Formats: sequence, C-alpha cells, structure tokens
Amino acid sequence: MDFNLTEITSGEPGRENEILKVLILGSGPAGLSAALYAARAELSPLVLTGMELGGQAALTHTIENYPGFPDGVGGSQLGELFQKQAERFGTRVEFDTATAVELSSRPFKVTTYNREYLTETLIITTGASPNHLKIPGETQLTGKGVSWCATCDGWFFRGKEVLVVGGGDSALEEGLFLTRYASKVTIVHRRDALRAGAVLQSRAFDNPKINFIWNTIVTEVKGKDAVESVRLKNVLTNEESDFATNGLFIFIGHTPNTQMFRGQLDMDDGGYIKANMLMETSIPGVFAAGEAADPHYRQVVTSAGMGAAAAMQAVRFLEKHETTA
Ligand SMILES: Cc1cc2nc3c(=O)[nH]c(=O)nc-3n(C[C@H](O)[C@H](O)[C@H](O)COP(=O)(O)OP(=O)(O)OC[C@H]3O[C@@H](n4cnc5c(N)ncnc54)[C@H](O)[C@@H]3O)c2cc1C
Repeated sequence: MDFNLTEITSGEPGRENEILKVLILGSGPAGLSAALYAARAELSPLVLTGMELGGQAALTHTIENYPGFPDGVGGSQLGELFQKQAERFGTRVEFDTATAVELSSRPFKVTTYNREYLTETLIITTGASPNHLKIPGETQLTGKGVSWCATCDGWFFRGKEVLVVGGGDSALEEGLFLTRYASKVTIVHRRDALRAGAVLQSRAFDNPKINFIWNTIVTEVKGKDAVESVRLKNVLTNEESDFATNGLFIFIGHTPNTQMFRGQLDMDDGGYIKANMLMETSIPGVFAAGEAADPHYRQVVTSAGMGAAAAMQAVRFLEKHETTA
C-alpha cells in the first residue's frame, strides 16, 4: 500500500490522525543523530525516548573517544547536547516507549504506552541492554549492591570493596571509574586475557586499587538486604570459594532491544536487525541504525554516524515517493 502524501501534516506529537514523516525509536546517539539530520531536512521528526534518555552513553561517566572533545565529555552531558542540537532544528521528543509495531503496510503503525502513531518512515535505534549473569541472588539483590551502571551507583560504594565482572572495554572503563569511590576493585574475568583496548588495559594494570582474578566466573550472589559475598568458580580447576564484597558490577556484553520487530524484520542469530550499507532493513521505509543493527563496532561515534545515514536515506525515500506519487 502506498501512502497518500496529502495526508502528511506536521504539528504537535500528541495530535491524533497525524501521519508523521519520520518516527525515530530511541534517544541514544543513533536516534538523536538521526533526528538532527531529519530535522535539518525539515521533516519534523518525532523521537520516542524509551526508558533511557541519552541511551547507554548517558550511563557512563566520561567518554574520551568521541571526536571534538579533546578533554572528554560526560556521557549524560553528551546526550543532552545531542538532544539540544536536534531540537534546535525542529525535532520533537516524547518520553514514551514503543510496545508494538505493525510494519506490513504503510503508513507504519507504532503503539506506545500512551497512544498509536502512524509514520511514513521508521528509524529504529533501540540500541541494546546489558546482559545479566542469570545466577541465584542477582535479581533479588539488584539495587542492593548488584548494578550495571558505575556512574549511577558508584557513589554508594565510597570506601567499600566491589567486584567487577567482565574483560572488555566497559568492564575496565567502569572499573577504573569505580576506583574514585571504592577502596578496592577486583575484576573477575572468565579467561586469562582481556578483550579491552591497550590503553585501558595499561591504565587498569597500573592502578593500585585494581586487581584481577582470572579464569573465574561468579555463580551466586549472597546477602540478605545487601550484597555480602559472591560465589566464585575457577573454570580450569572447578575450585569454588566465597569472596566477600559489598558490590557486584556486571559488564558482560549486551543484547539488542529488537524483540518487538521479530517476525517482521530480518535479523541475525544474535537478534541484530539486518541493515545494509544504506541502513535499509528488509522492509522499504524502515531503517535501523546503531547498536540495534550493529554487532561489530558498538561505539557512540559509529552509532551516531549510522543514525545520520539512516535519516539521510529516509529523506531520499520520502523524496522518491513524493515524485512517484
Ligand atoms: C557503561 C558503558 C560505557 C560505554 N563507554 C563508551 C565510550 O567510552 N565510548 C563509546 O564510544 N561508547 C561507549 N559505550 C557504548 C555506547 O554507549 C553505545 O555504543 C551507544 O550508546 C549506542 O547508541 P545507540 O543509539 O545505538 O543505542 P543506545 O545508546 O543503547 O540507545 C538506545 C535507545 O533506545 C531507547 N529504546 C529502547 N527500547 C525502546 C522502545 N521500545 N521504544 C522507544 N525507545 C526505546 C532507549 O531508551 C535508548 O534511548 C559505552 C556503553 C556502556 C554501557
């Protein structure tokens, strides 16, 4: 079904019967960059923020590898700057979350907690969420010592000892950040070598507050009203032991937030939406950018770049349909 361009309106995002030109799901680096480009094309994009305004980037204290900030920039500060710049050109931002999509015909239908939206093009930038260990005690002690966000929760561990699980960039970045507060940070990694970049590795090895436990996994979190200890298991010897700690910070990768699109869009085995170089998905008019579609790079700069590209393609898609309508 082709959409009727005479129905296109712009106005308040709350207006019923409005058919949006561009609807963007997600307010992380990809979503807000897409919004900036779509807004500058005068398409009045609407961004649905989801639960995390600014996305994962807003969870981290400092970002040192986003170009243009030689001294680094606060994660949430960067998110605010992205939003401000997108809004300056006419982006509308709604604090709402999509719960279902109907992509079989255009305009596409997006249902949220509050209402339904119709849109000619959809840009999916729903990013990814941190993986859980799925071990006993993890859920019960979440917010009571178990955390996935050092920036949010590090302050509560002043003078205390914490454990970090993981061996990638996030684990080391956040472990280093936690040394500002914690008296000791122990990084537990299931292998005998880290995946993190060289600069982070040498910073972590040089930090006197950080030490490592190798070839080890956490199998249980213990504590009544707060974390008191964790159960560790050496994967080479199978030897188990209790390790006293006040906090457990988990950085073991992410799962893309794409469940809603399952069965409608092509995805890979990991649940990442399949998008080509032009950010096009298996449905014309639906674009995907950032970590929802990127199992490889997963950075602020790459996600922002993909978001911009998706918006440029949405503009081209709309132009093409306008001339052929
Ligand atoms: C602790 C940590 C530290 C990091 N440090 C760095 C760093 O130093 N440098 C770097 O380059 N990268 C870093 N990253 C990675 C970087 O943050 C991500 O690559 C980037 O944020 C991905 O951007 P995105 O827009 O694709 O997705 P995300 O940032 O994941 O944003 C997803 C957005 O989608 C929204 N959403 C989800 N579901 C829905 C829904 N159903 N409806 C509407 N909206 C929805 C969320 O609310 C969120 O706004 C770090 C990540 C973490 C977790």
